[in-house]
Amino acid sequence: MKRDEFIVVEGIHKNPNDINTLDEKSKIEHGPYNKIEAEKVAKGLIQKNIDNFYHRAWVINQDIELNNICEECKKEDESVKQNLIMHSYKICNSCNLAKTIFPL
Ligand SMILES: [Zn+2]
Repeated sequence: MKRDEFIVVEGIHKNPNDINTLDEKSKIEHGPYNKIEAEKVAKGLIQKNIDNFYHRAWVINQDIELNNICEECKKEDESVKQNLIMHSYKICNSCNLAKTIFPL
């Protein structure tokens, strides 16, 4: 069985709903933890920074961090990671858009 390896990333974002807008200079990584610990740490960080709208903390599975391959078109794309965090499926923005317009 594969071990759960989760890290928590916190920092200041230009758009707090988009992990790709995280300011590299403000980025702090915590962990690795297991999933439950990671979620606890992330929640604590979010509560601690509740007054800062641009501060976000994300739980990231390190296995996924290394893999940006879209499951639909098998192409590598930065948006895959983001969609996985936001919607929990591995899909690039162009496939995601195609799916939204032409649902299967
Ligand atoms: Zn795709």
